[in-house]
Amino acid sequence: MTVTDAATGSTATRGRPWASEALHRADPQIADLLAAEAERRAETIQLLAGENLTTPAVLAALAGPLIDKYAEGYPGRRHHTGCALADAAELLAIDRARELFAAPHANVQPRSATSAMLAAYAALLRPGDGVLAMSLEHGGHLSCGSRANFSGRWFEFTGYGVREGDGLIDLDQVRDLARLHRPKAIVAGSISHPRHPDWAAFREIADEVDAYLIASVAQTAGLVAAGLAPSPVPYADVTVAATHKLLRGPRGGLLLSTAELAERIDRAVFPFSQGGAAMNEVAGKAVALAEAATPAYRAYAQRTVDGARALAAGLAEAGMRPLTGGTDTHLVTADVSTLGVTGLEAERRCAAAGLLLGKCALPYDPAPPAEGSGIRLGTGTVTSQGMGEAELAGIAGLIARLLAGEAPGPVAERVRELALAFAGPR
Ligand SMILES: *Cc1c(COP(=O)(O)O)cnc(C)c1O
Repeated sequence: MTVTDAATGSTATRGRPWASEALHRADPQIADLLAAEAERRAETIQLLAGENLTTPAVLAALAGPLIDKYAEGYPGRRHHTGCALADAAELLAIDRARELFAAPHANVQPRSATSAMLAAYAALLRPGDGVLAMSLEHGGHLSCGSRANFSGRWFEFTGYGVREGDGLIDLDQVRDLARLHRPKAIVAGSISHPRHPDWAAFREIADEVDAYLIASVAQTAGLVAAGLAPSPVPYADVTVAATHKLLRGPRGGLLLSTAELAERIDRAVFPFSQGGAAMNEVAGKAVALAEAATPAYRAYAQRTVDGARALAAGLAEAGMRPLTGGTDTHLVTADVSTLGVTGLEAERRCAAAGLLLGKCALPYDPAPPAEGSGIRLGTGTVTSQGMGEAELAGIAGLIARLLAGEAPGPVAERVRELALAFAGPR
């Protein structure tokens, strides 16, 4: 099946390997389930912040023969034989990552952004060391000190947050906490904050207390690649990215670092925290990094931000307050308590009409964390499908109708129409 990729304009075979005869014969249950999942995606609108559509070229690389290659170690120093071509693929991925982000060193092996965070901490810290990061209540990821995560068990986290008034990161608080706790590392980056960190300011604070600076741009690495977000690379000792979010690559992580830390970063990934890398994912990352260097990708990234701004403006007009008043990214986090519903209720009502978005606890949220007062949305997937500002303004209107208490029926019909119009051939 031929699919025109909305982001790059390139036509490539996305194919439906999951719909193959072989799978149907071997496992009809899984085959049917995958067909139903494809149907579900086609009929609904995906606004989950971390999701995207993997590009056809990346999917092709993921299904390629490197899926069967064991290649523990790094190019030129493997623990397995027969790795010459795997080495060549990994070197391409590394070179492309270094060039795209102007980074002295890149490691393309982490299986996820969380694994990349684990490796970053392992390279720089010892158990019990102090880390200053955005608190989970204000938008920090689990890997920034959750007690349910290795980070919160093995390191002493202190959390900074945003100001209650304008919702922006309180750099005075960051500085005060850094002086008070003298952390060994400071982390900047968030899962839901819609503005870019002031990297120079974070560097200055880290220098003042002799701490490492870790930049976590899992959400926004694509915007950095496209030149639409300030790059942390000149400022951070280690930068953590995800390749499956805005970068539209395989599900995985990426580490960038200074030349000085290269050896420690590599050892922290393999052998410290992982075994052999998934070489098909490494090949897929190489493809995604090449695609992200094109003008077409830059245009795609710009459209994700334009769309998110239209979405934020539409939500604001309907009485939902976007965090920080808007967005500089593909992310929108909005307060729905003004409409008399919790984030959880908003998520449920929207899901019932085919609009998939996430409930979210807000900074200073009076609601229990499991319910939250906010919703979090991202425009990565819908922009890959070709939706733009007009569609996203319309989607804001549909969300407003659902949260105002309108029965889901008519909205669900409109959502299905819109979704199918942008689903591409199935
Ligand atoms: C998505 C995200 C992660 C986790 O990514 P995984 O690949 O699911 O482990 C970590 N940190 C931030 C800031 C993220 O946005």
